[in-house]
Amino acid sequence: MSDYVTYIQTEALQQLIAICRSGMPDEVCGLVAYRTDDPKRVVSAIMPLQNAHPSPRHHFELDPAEWVSAYFQLLRDGYSVAGIYHSHPNGPAFPSETDLAQRLWEPAPPKNKPSGSAEGLQMWIISLADLEAPLVAVFAPSAQGAKRSVLAEVGI
Ligand SMILES: [Zn+2]
Repeated sequence: MSDYVTYIQTEALQQLIAICRSGMPDEVCGLVAYRTDDPKRVVSAIMPLQNAHPSPRHHFELDPAEWVSAYFQLLRDGYSVAGIYHSHPNGPAFPSETDLAQRLWEPAPPKNKPSGSAEGLQMWIISLADLEAPLVAVFAPSAQGAKRSVLAEVGI
């Protein structure tokens, strides 16, 4: 199986990290999207959403109405949603047990997707444990659970 690569514009990556930093010490969350007509699916839009969890320092939760409305707003603007991001202000760039249990990145049962398909929402995690060197990790749904994707920056 070939490596699964996710592309992001440098500007969008910097914006994503800045948003996560400014939300400290809480976890922040939102959507990452690419232009629907872009065959390389380079992530170029970041849409922050409110963290609706009552304990935002250690958890995140999307407000269902807000996230659905943001999803369709992006579609109307010519974007497709690549995934959901959230920050780990003190944690590693790896899904927690809770993150995996939420299965936000897998909206449809795998059996309904073509085999080998990378469809489904990605889970983006931004670790700020080292503020000088934030880490952004992307995970995609796979038959085994979550599969790490290589994140490649694209300059303009
Ligand atoms: Zn998490």
